[in-house]
Amino acid sequence: MDHFQDRPGPTGAPELWCEDVPLAEIAEAVGTPVYVYSTATLERHFTVFRDALQAAMPGRRLLVAYAVKANSNLAVIRTLARLGAGADTVSEGEIRRALAAGVPPERIVFSGVGKTDAELAFAIDQGVCEINVEAEAELERLAAIAEARGARPAIAIRVNPDVGAGGHAKISTGKAESKFGVSFSEARRLYARAAASPFLRPVGVACHIGSQITDLAPLEAAFTRMRGLVEDLRREGLSVERLDLGGGLGVPYFDAPEAPPLPSIYAAMVARVLDGLDIDLAFEPGRLIVANAGVLVATAIHVHRRAEGRSFLVVDAAMNDLLRPTLYEAYHGIRPVRSGNGAPEEAMDVVGPVCETGDTFARDRPLPPMAAGDLVAFQSAGAYGASMSSEYNSRPLIPEVLVSGDRFSVIRRRPTFEEMLAREPLPDWLG
Ligand SMILES: *Cc1c(COP(=O)(O)O)cnc(C)c1O
Repeated sequence: MDHFQDRPGPTGAPELWCEDVPLAEIAEAVGTPVYVYSTATLERHFTVFRDALQAAMPGRRLLVAYAVKANSNLAVIRTLARLGAGADTVSEGEIRRALAAGVPPERIVFSGVGKTDAELAFAIDQGVCEINVEAEAELERLAAIAEARGARPAIAIRVNPDVGAGGHAKISTGKAESKFGVSFSEARRLYARAAASPFLRPVGVACHIGSQITDLAPLEAAFTRMRGLVEDLRREGLSVERLDLGGGLGVPYFDAPEAPPLPSIYAAMVARVLDGLDIDLAFEPGRLIVANAGVLVATAIHVHRRAEGRSFLVVDAAMNDLLRPTLYEAYHGIRPVRSGNGAPEEAMDVVGPVCETGDTFARDRPLPPMAAGDLVAFQSAGAYGASMSSEYNSRPLIPEVLVSGDRFSVIRRRPTFEEMLAREPLPDWLG
């Protein structure tokens, strides 16, 4: 459930609001394209997920570490941090964002395939609660860095459970051939190595098998294997305090066909798989929390009707603002902000102005009649939208707005063209 609903507009025709603010009012005040997020939806998604887990496993210690890369805006992280969320981070920049947003270090997990020495040192100095080690070479570097700093960081070993899952090949991370994590046998060896080191404190094992997962079976298979690993390690006399089960639960992308499981069903599965195993749990949801808490509002530039064949709705947002359709062939609901007069729909390609054929948001999408200047909403755009945006085609980063009740605030402002150009000093020999 989200807080983007139709309400009667000035002419009586319904138009899309975010909580108690019409999207048209934000577009008027801030300009388009603009990302708009709903506080009530962010809070609801986090609370529903955490409460479902806690209800299914009363008394179990849970850390719900929001995956910052899904939407790394400080105000979004802070909204969640105030509810007790931790942060799953994949770079020094993300750790800094989490800290700046008020996430305490003891709720920050540092994941990632290629953490640099400088990033590992920073994470140790901040005292994050878990560094998820993904390779033997990383374990060795981390031990050396910790020794040099006289520290003993808490680590988990990221395991690749060799289970395929995720909405698209590019967001499936749990197969043996993907670059993430180590095998079960390597995990046992590395865990014992870490336990023998005076500079490392192994606290757990972690997995994350993919994103936009809409079927519980691969998750259940992976979690069952992870339980087996915990039991193996304990049989070898090693202490394992925490099992980090990653993120990846999918979300409904409006009229898209897939129907992901409810958090309560997911939580019941986790409880069943881990029944009788005494261990703290960590989760790293990203998309689940933010995807349906955000929309991208754009303006129609014009409708380009070929004399024969296709019609194109050209909007002022492009692949640099919302990359998912280009990168993952992802589906987004697309609708006019102000509903029309019930005229018949027409199939159109919805495209941006960027000079790439890939800059296509949808093909043959049925839409009501649209005209230049009409506002268009891309739904479910809160995750992997703004956080993946770039300035390709020299289009400045677009603003982000957070709504709470009848208030809204710009939480990332649009840079000026002058600011964009000022980052690029000319060398003196060209001056
Ligand atoms: C991206 C990522 C997540 C979040 O995935 P979602 O599909 O957005 O829930 C969690 N953990 C790790 C390690 C990740 O890389």
